[in-house]
Amino acid sequence: MNQATVEDTKVAGFKSLSPAVWRASTVLFNTVDEFTSRKDRLYDGYTYGVTGTPTNRALEERIAEFEGGAHCVLAPSGQAALCMVGLALVRAGDHVLVSDSAYGPLKTFLNDWLSGYGVAVDVYPPTAGSDLESHIQDNTKLIFLESPGSLTMEMQDIPAIVAIAKRRGILTVIDNTWATPLGFKPLDQGVDICVEAGSKLFGGHSDVLLGSIATNHRWVYEKMRHAQSVLGQAVSAEDCFLVLRGLDTLAVRYAHQCNSAIEIASWLAKHEQVELVMFPPLQTSPGHEVWARSFQGGGCVLSFIPTFQQRDEVHAFFAALTTFSIGASWGGVHSLAAFYPATEFARRKHCEYQRGIVRLSVGLEPVSSLVTDLEKSLASARARNS
Ligand SMILES: *Cc1c(COP(=O)(O)O)cnc(C)c1O
Repeated sequence: MNQATVEDTKVAGFKSLSPAVWRASTVLFNTVDEFTSRKDRLYDGYTYGVTGTPTNRALEERIAEFEGGAHCVLAPSGQAALCMVGLALVRAGDHVLVSDSAYGPLKTFLNDWLSGYGVAVDVYPPTAGSDLESHIQDNTKLIFLESPGSLTMEMQDIPAIVAIAKRRGILTVIDNTWATPLGFKPLDQGVDICVEAGSKLFGGHSDVLLGSIATNHRWVYEKMRHAQSVLGQAVSAEDCFLVLRGLDTLAVRYAHQCNSAIEIASWLAKHEQVELVMFPPLQTSPGHEVWARSFQGGGCVLSFIPTFQQRDEVHAFFAALTTFSIGASWGGVHSLAAFYPATEFARRKHCEYQRGIVRLSVGLEPVSSLVTDLEKSLASARARNS
């Protein structure tokens, strides 16, 4: 005996509440026949570290159940998960539709990369419901959805789009990162594939990157697992451990952060230096009706258009923030603020907002401290203007 195998590991007599972290590149086989037929087990077993160890499987099963799906495949980041879906499901000659308010790097991947491989890509207005039909072509294969959309928070009419897609035999894929399955369960609504950036609320502590792809279709699952293997999209077992741990506290973090976010959104909506709050759970926000009709929960990320748009005023606002830190990504326990200048939206094809937008990710700090921080920073921007 010259190798320590999984069976040799002394686990008998040990019990713990936390999942084991299995690291492995090599997976061992008992016989040479098992080894040479290992590809038979790509979809229902273990073949090589790239497609995961029991720790990865534990997280995949946990997310699949959470989404109400039969299958899940992990990816090294949310963006990797979105790209894997595109690469696995379309080929040269196909046509893809993506919402104009979808996550920016996904649009860049589709427009600048996938189109270079002979795939036609069209961007549709995020609020298109049944009129999406006019954007569909005979070769449309896949429709990317995100609701609410990134930064501008447009809500999409998911049931209307799913109905068209089903009638035309087109697959739908949604980025559900904002809501998580606690706020919205896309697979229950007939969406074929649900992607989450686990880097955000699932992990919840701004210290891990991970993505997930959930589906009820066995054939889609097999395409994703195959893509993970061919593209080498390995996910570390430690990162799976962190996301498994994050999921244990997700419900309480989510509830607290959503409550704080709606309080902050309501406060901002009444502020004279705020032109518009984009946060569908807020009654006065665009998209509120669609949100109220179909979502079971809110989110911890909101956007607003400040009345001040000059560079030095925006600078003064951000320089005065102390509780909020400046940074991208979101969904962690620490609150974040980010600024997206008007030029960002000028690049979009169907965007009605051509103003600089502030985006806030609301964390677990006392909401009174967060409001105080915003009040002080808005005053600082006002002082710069006078
Ligand atoms: C952050 C984010 C992603 C990408 O996730 P990463 O893990 O950072 O790659 C995708 N979609 C949405 C909506 C996001 O906010």
